Amino acid sequence: MKVQKQGEKLIVPDQVTIPFIEGDGVGAEITPVSQKIVNEAVKTAYQGKRSIEWKEVLAGEKAFKATGNWLPDETLDAFREHLVGIKGPLTTPIGEGIRSLNVALRQTLDLYVCLRPVRWFKGVVSPIKEPQKVDMVIFRENTEDIYAGIEWQQGTPEARKFLRFLKDEMGVTKIRFEDTSAFGVKPVSIEGTERLVRSAIEYALENHLPSVTLVHKGNIMKYTEGGFKKWGYALAEREFAKELSEGKIIINDVIADAFLQNTLLTPEKYSVIATLNLNGDYISDQLAAMVGGIGIAPGANINYLSGHAIFEATHGTAPDIAGQNKVNPSSLILSSVMLLEYLGWKEAADLTTKAMEEAFINGEATTDLARFMPNGKPLGTIEFGETIIKKLRLEP
Ligand code: NAD
Repeated sequence: MKVQKQGEKLIVPDQVTIPFIEGDGVGAEITPVSQKIVNEAVKTAYQGKRSIEWKEVLAGEKAFKATGNWLPDETLDAFREHLVGIKGPLTTPIGEGIRSLNVALRQTLDLYVCLRPVRWFKGVVSPIKEPQKVDMVIFRENTEDIYAGIEWQQGTPEARKFLRFLKDEMGVTKIRFEDTSAFGVKPVSIEGTERLVRSAIEYALENHLPSVTLVHKGNIMKYTEGGFKKWGYALAEREFAKELSEGKIIINDVIADAFLQNTLLTPEKYSVIATLNLNGDYISDQLAAMVGGIGIAPGANINYLSGHAIFEATHGTAPDIAGQNKVNPSSLILSSVMLLEYLGWKEAADLTTKAMEEAFINGEATTDLARFMPNGKPLGTIEFGETIIKKLRLEP
């Protein structure tokens, strides 16, 4: 049965169907492991009252081989219809007319929030001294900014036309090397900012988190990034005046470069982060590296208004280790935890997180993490999954 949205509420049936994309490369290894873990967590938490039926939909190389299409319409329809889905990593097709399958999915469903929680797991080796102080949730705007894909290659008639427009009609005189410039456009809107910042504040309130920090470069890009800051504050004051006056939430802002320094020096100062697309890209990767790197960072792309959400492994297809039982499945497992939380199945989510915590404390991890742990016991992907399942079975 399908997840549905009624007004503000997500209606989740006890027997829920979740469409999934297995993913290319290591996708064939991490997807079955994470599904087995989730099934076990749901079984342990709800004793058969709830369950997930996984429905495979095709995308990427597997889709191309089977249908000749990298992203079949049926896949988009399934995500549209079922609201909530999950995906493994996808190869970016080269020269096939699709910029990126991930971008196509985000755009089609207007998934305007890229959500990246970042926390440290005891036992995981980090490059910083006090990783336990890192506990943030990033709300990265997913549809605007210089990422919108409006750009013209140097030397093309379009680039020359755009240059003429800038000079002749807009009076621009500041382009240093006119003939050899490429151009890009950075749209940042009031609506785009407001829906992102609103979602971040609502998330902070629902999860009893202390603050939302607007991260921007408004000191330099005054109208785009500066607009983000101005509209973000205005929205908070207009729609959350009561919560602000009661001290339930604090809204503040920081310039993006200072923020990146501060995350290393005083990460405990930050909780929920709301930021633009490009800043969010850099910030997500830096923060992920601070708590143990690419193999364990989960993520999701969400439209909180329609309810559509696709949870995902944040790393790529890792072709260099595919098929070797080496890949760390934690990113997809923790993305599945986010999915369970989104469904409101918190007990199953918490059981999974706890089992992973216990594994890491014991040094039980895939080689990428275990090799840095003083008590590290390197496990294959399958064996790591089995370890988590054993721990889940022991839960009360
Ligand atoms: P990558 O993330 O696949 O790999 C980078 C390095 O990190 C590799 O050495 C890899 O072995 C390692 N690594 C990645 N995930 C790991 C894990 N879970 N456990 C252990 N090691 C891991 O990035 P790439 O090599 O730049 O990209 C390969 C392909 O993946 C490209 O086609 C790219 O377009 C695609 N990609 C897809 C996504 C996505 O679908 N979300 C994201 C990034 C890249």
